[in-house]
Amino acid sequence: MRKGKYLTITRLLMLLAIILIIISSISNIVVAENTITSPKNVILLIGDGMGPNQVLMAHDIKGSNLYMEDMPYKGMLSTVNAVGGVTDSAAAGTALATGAKTRNSYLGMNEDEVFVSNIREFCVRHDKMTGIISTVKITDATPAAFYAHNVVRTEEALIKKQLIESNIDVIIGPGAQNYSTPNNLVTGEMESLEKATILAIEFLDKGENGFFLMVEGGKIDHAGHSNSIEQCNYEVLEFDKAVKAALEFAEKDGSTLVIVTADHETGGLQKSNTSYKFTSPNHTGVDVPVFAFGVGASYFTGRICNTEISLKIKRLILGDSLNLLPTKAVPVAAGIAPETVVPEAQESNNHALWIGSFSLLLLCAGGIGFYILRKKMEGKL
Ligand SMILES: [Zn+2]
Repeated sequence: MRKGKYLTITRLLMLLAIILIIISSISNIVVAENTITSPKNVILLIGDGMGPNQVLMAHDIKGSNLYMEDMPYKGMLSTVNAVGGVTDSAAAGTALATGAKTRNSYLGMNEDEVFVSNIREFCVRHDKMTGIISTVKITDATPAAFYAHNVVRTEEALIKKQLIESNIDVIIGPGAQNYSTPNNLVTGEMESLEKATILAIEFLDKGENGFFLMVEGGKIDHAGHSNSIEQCNYEVLEFDKAVKAALEFAEKDGSTLVIVTADHETGGLQKSNTSYKFTSPNHTGVDVPVFAFGVGASYFTGRICNTEISLKIKRLILGDSLNLLPTKAVPVAAGIAPETVVPEAQESNNHALWIGSFSLLLLCAGGIGFYILRKKMEGKL
């Protein structure tokens, strides 16, 4: 009677162990496919108004590749706003920062006037230090898209209040001196965008969990609006030196993702034969370039939507490669439906990892039980 009972239990345990081994193997395969190396640090450099011809013209003036052009992964970004029109810096900055298309003038709010979290805030929630640098006012639309949430981009008082409340670790740019706090690196002084980038990286690299840094070359846009070829070249080359600083750090560090892109093109810069000329005083709807280097850089290729930048960064940080591809449909003309916002609930989807771990735990428990029973039987029979 006793012997039969033990044999039945033993057989059941063996069957359970086999089932668990199978479950565990399947789970491990799923986990392996779903796991990628996450960048520890992310540096996003935005040339405001820097279309493909602005890069090409600066290349011609320099007589060789810009640093950004030597980055290994390249693509193009569509910049159309939520209603299918030419974007302003607020809607474009919001798309880049939050992954949500919106209307012109909106900052950190989607087209339905709903608050959308930005990639810098996401990084704060993941214990990363964060910084923003701009050559234009730190409350201007592009930098503000990384901390502000308001449908009117020009409501300076509110945007200032949101900047203070955001407690960003590094703020460098005109006007920043008004937001100084004892533990943060905050300065309105900037020798050059390159020096500011080096200074910010040195400060942010002290954090254990990495950092997110946004660097804006804001005056490329001004050159486009005033149709100044000379200023445009100067600003793009200055911006490119900041790219160099970011790349030098990333190369040495080995765990950083560097992305260089633009929010939109300004001035309708065109090339005819060997000369360039601006054809508009405004922003245009042409695609802008994106260049990527480092951990996860290979995901930033092809023609993608500007909302994809922060969505891909988020997913890379989460180590969530399955959701990185394929890329969503890209709006190409007026009236095409905007992207939807990715809910925060999607932030964790490591179910497979949990199943795998739990199965292994059960397998161990089953094995130990089996061993004890065997010993017991051997002793008693
Ligand atoms: Zn802009």
